[in-house]
Amino acid sequence: MRPWRRLIAGAAFAAAMLVGVSASAQTPSLQIPAAAQASAAFDPVRATNAYLASVPPEKKARSDAYFEGGYWLQLWGFLYGAAILYALLASGWSAAMRDRAERLTRRRPVQTLIYWFQFNVVLALATFPWTVYTDFFREHQYGFATQTFWPWLWDQTKGFGLALVLGGLALMVLYGVLRRVGRSWWLWATGVVVAFNVLVAAIAPVFIVPLFNTYTRLTDARIRDPILRMAHANGIASDDVYVVDQSRQTTRVSANVSGLLGTQRISLNDNLLRRCSLEEIEAVLGHEMGHYVLNHLAKNLVETSIVVAIGFALVGVGFERMRQRRGDWRISAVGDVAGLPLIALLFSIYAFAATPINNTIVRETEYEADMFGLNAARQPDGFANAALKLGEYRKLAPGPIEEFIFFDHPSGRTRIFSAMRWKAGTPSASDLRPAAR
Ligand SMILES: [Zn+2]
Repeated sequence: MRPWRRLIAGAAFAAAMLVGVSASAQTPSLQIPAAAQASAAFDPVRATNAYLASVPPEKKARSDAYFEGGYWLQLWGFLYGAAILYALLASGWSAAMRDRAERLTRRRPVQTLIYWFQFNVVLALATFPWTVYTDFFREHQYGFATQTFWPWLWDQTKGFGLALVLGGLALMVLYGVLRRVGRSWWLWATGVVVAFNVLVAAIAPVFIVPLFNTYTRLTDARIRDPILRMAHANGIASDDVYVVDQSRQTTRVSANVSGLLGTQRISLNDNLLRRCSLEEIEAVLGHEMGHYVLNHLAKNLVETSIVVAIGFALVGVGFERMRQRRGDWRISAVGDVAGLPLIALLFSIYAFAATPINNTIVRETEYEADMFGLNAARQPDGFANAALKLGEYRKLAPGPIEEFIFFDHPSGRTRIFSAMRWKAGTPSASDLRPAAR
């Protein structure tokens, strides 16, 4: 998904993949390398290296290739999207789509909606080969995807419908505002985008995710009870943990906190439940509780708003210059919907340049949640093992600059080291909390 589209579709959209299944009777047991076992000679660096060395070289090479390939995909995806947006402007298609909308109705909001439908269809068709490659073929190539083509396409179609409806509503509001305000439009646009993100985040677990996956309550008491004890001990009143049947789409292990304004919930996916030991599940859920207790959704929203506001301010300058210079694009003002591809193009350039900033905003809160989770779950080896599983699709040991630019979560090495450092600093951590079986 293009950055600007992700923006419009809302931050919570990215989290929209999960499903529920009861835990298998056989819970896997925890593996701890010899050098990471608690002992008088315990050394966090040596323990971290022992964990990293436990990954077979061919598995590590595969994960590195997948993740590093993603760096290039970000670049090509940005350029591909930018070329399409530019072509829409330069070919006169954008102005023609607006003219068509104006011929069909005199009502401005409906014109905006008709323009959006045309724009979205053209964009979806033009990016379809790219979407098929990145989201389908490549995911199968690396063994993550579990869907055949038609179910995959059906999910894509639902996503498209959702973008049509939610994006259409957002755009009608946005252009309603843009037609009425002057030079301060960038501030108003930020307000609309942020309000829309709040709305999408709030409805995501209830109305969006269920379109793709099924949430069920976790009922296995051996797993649910320790998790709920940890939740209650940390002031989370919830009596439910949700499992989402993400194995419908992928083999990846994941968990998340979603929702806002009363719809918040913690959920783990069925891959995590099936493949992880209780120690790992506790470690991961401790991390998710960190997001919850430390109010990360609200915090990220505020930080993101600042980034968006700066973005729109810069876009505003570029927009006016380009609009005046390119009279042949026939954009009358910022409130003219024919200028949408130009706003999207300029914003995508900004978002691409701001990639390290956006990643760092998220990565910092992820690190905070890691620290919270270690203290709450007291399962450093569970956390290290979970980090190795996440390392199947995220490069385990990047360089520091690479981690700064491309990682929206701490790398596996950073996370394992955090866990081993915690273990070293917490006397007899290993026997503080033997997992109940
Ligand atoms: Zn997290």
